[in-house]
Amino acid sequence: MEAASTKQPIIESAYQHKEGNRIRCSICPVNCKLKEGDIGICDGREVINGKLIATNYAQISSLHLDPMEKKPLYHFFPGSEILSVGPNGCNLSCPWCQNWEISQNKIPTRTVLPNDLADMVDALDGIGVAYTYAEPLIWYEYILDAGRILHERGLVNVFVTNGYINADPLKDLLTVADGFNIDLKSSESQCYIQQCGGKLEDVQRTIRMVYEAGKHLEITHLIITGLNDELNKIERVVDWIADIDKTIPLHLSRYFPHNKYKEPPTDLQFMTDAYYLAKSKLDWVYLGNTRSDIGQDSHCPECGSMLVKRTGYYTEIKKLDGDRCKNCGKQLNFSVDVTRYK
Ligand code: SF4
Ligand code: SF4
Repeated sequence: MEAASTKQPIIESAYQHKEGNRIRCSICPVNCKLKEGDIGICDGREVINGKLIATNYAQISSLHLDPMEKKPLYHFFPGSEILSVGPNGCNLSCPWCQNWEISQNKIPTRTVLPNDLADMVDALDGIGVAYTYAEPLIWYEYILDAGRILHERGLVNVFVTNGYINADPLKDLLTVADGFNIDLKSSESQCYIQQCGGKLEDVQRTIRMVYEAGKHLEITHLIITGLNDELNKIERVVDWIADIDKTIPLHLSRYFPHNKYKEPPTDLQFMTDAYYLAKSKLDWVYLGNTRSDIGQDSHCPECGSMLVKRTGYYTEIKKLDGDRCKNCGKQLNFSVDVTRYK
């Protein structure tokens, strides 16, 4: 799909302040402290002439029209398509990153200003934009501006993210956000620190804030050979989610070797075992990257009726009626009310 090509504006970074001859960025918990010419860990901000500039503003590395289920978001307008865009860069450094060509390297970008992005969605008669692929939260100034314009036009904003953002910037972002899929990589602090260069508690805070703000929330947990493919570790992740709300959908995703992490793909039997363990404690559990029949469809937790059937990214609405089960009438956890936005 062709995007509009235009000149990149110079936008000062949000949430910055001077500390001596340096500038502190406090958008995310990395809290980079930068001097003239330095570039932030996320590669999205640089000190130029004494100012911290969001050099990634409106710079799009990837742009596609994707099925909502590919995000994955299974309970947010099931069966719809969404314009999906992503930047270069990330504020974490997971060695297994499947998007490492853009999260830890750079590819050429094109400039798509917020108004042009909204125009593209309107031209497609779409419902909104998914900010995804690499890490969208490091696009902070852009996603806020684009998010406001999309909302003014009755369009949605969803974020597929590692959740690594400080609390105050997140509060502002929540004013334009409609849905999230947040990656919860582990229930162990050491895993976040040693593998990804981040802190578990900051991601957990983001998940709680998104939930408490009443935004649509789904969680993805990647099960990685030799790292977290143990049922007691899966159980800790599941218990933490269930403590918040057992109706939060959880996507258990199968790992494949990428970038620096070379272990074989996650054992399929383990994926199935993890699914049944999670399903014993949560209402909605799905398996990703398995080609299994298990963990694809949505069944009513009350009467067992099939609500949504999924074959790959092909989605059929069965007994789902708005946000209720057509069979027993149970109120469910699906965001399907387009009139809320349009
Ligand atoms: S958003 Fe980027 S520049 Fe700002 S603190 Fe995080 S990694 Fe550093
Ligand atoms: S947080 Fe996501 S995008 Fe960033 S390095 Fe990790 S897996 Fe890749």
